[in-house]
Amino acid sequence: MTVLVTGGAGYIGSHMVWELLDAGERVVVVDNLSKGFDWAVAPEALLVKGDIADTDLVGGLIREHAVDAVIHFAGSIVVPESVADPLAYYRNNTCKTRTLIETAVQAQVRNFIFSSTAAVYGGAGIEPVEENARLEPESPYGRSKLMSEWMLRDAADAHDLRYTALRYFNVAGADPNGRTGQSTPGATHLIKVACETALGKRPFMQVFGTDYQTADGTCVRDYIHVSDLVRAHRLALQRLRAGGDSIVANCGYGHGYSVFEVIEAVRRVHGGDFDVRNGPRRPGDAASVVANSDLARHELGWMPQRDDLDLIVADALAWERRLQTMNSARG
Ligand code: UDP
Repeated sequence: MTVLVTGGAGYIGSHMVWELLDAGERVVVVDNLSKGFDWAVAPEALLVKGDIADTDLVGGLIREHAVDAVIHFAGSIVVPESVADPLAYYRNNTCKTRTLIETAVQAQVRNFIFSSTAAVYGGAGIEPVEENARLEPESPYGRSKLMSEWMLRDAADAHDLRYTALRYFNVAGADPNGRTGQSTPGATHLIKVACETALGKRPFMQVFGTDYQTADGTCVRDYIHVSDLVRAHRLALQRLRAGGDSIVANCGYGHGYSVFEVIEAVRRVHGGDFDVRNGPRRPGDAASVVANSDLARHELGWMPQRDDLDLIVADALAWERRLQTMNSARG
């Protein structure tokens, strides 16, 4: 049996590929390399450059490699970009996912794992947020992912398909063995930005808003180590293969840190100061977003192993240094 990973050249997908290979799985990656990198894909996996909505390509790979499960990461993820160009997000995230699900159903793949997001909730709910909270996404990005969840639910009702949708909170860090990490240039995520600033890749960074209704006035997020996140996917795969029913589960640790706390952790782990400037709020940011992760723990038997902000930051910093070395070696 082989697992098809879409978006396997990207940040989370490339960690997934290593997680699967470490567990002895065979892996085929389909990635259009629009954001990911071919060098990020473990050499033991087969990387096919192509579009996830190319039915002939994907259907052919499923049959040729006896694929029994699809783990679907490929998609666009930048919230403000989705506000500016919503139709691109609905095409890339929703329409292409529809085609991929159809291809999987037609090729008789029975197991589907989907990368969803806490953005399906919106920001105004009770914390920590449970899966059955109100779904009021505030951006086209969140809606494009929620529609994909709904398509999966309906397809699973109608066909011989079971799925797990995992709603990610704030994914950060890098492979503890240094094999892959967050490599996207111009990334906007807090821990990546703070690490880049600490290492001098940026002259300064900004804190987006210090007047929120939180303990120190800055936004609180549930940061989860990418290694724990991809382990949750592998457990979901095992569970589906063993006949488990379709579920939607949060992936976060269940506690949050403020922007100031994250910056303090980067200073502490890096062992040096860097220029941080307080700025205005960023549109669309909720004050606090923290997961209730009981369902993933119970249903998947998920036991996070790197639930420690300093550990997340240490792995992110180590990868940032590695990127620096790799980029200077490339000239
Ligand atoms: N943030 C910040 N400065 C940055 C990047 C992010 O203050 O350079 C804040 C952002 O406003 C939010 C938190 O850090 O409150 C997490 O943002 P991120 O973009 O990492 O993830 P999001 O929660 O938006 O998905």
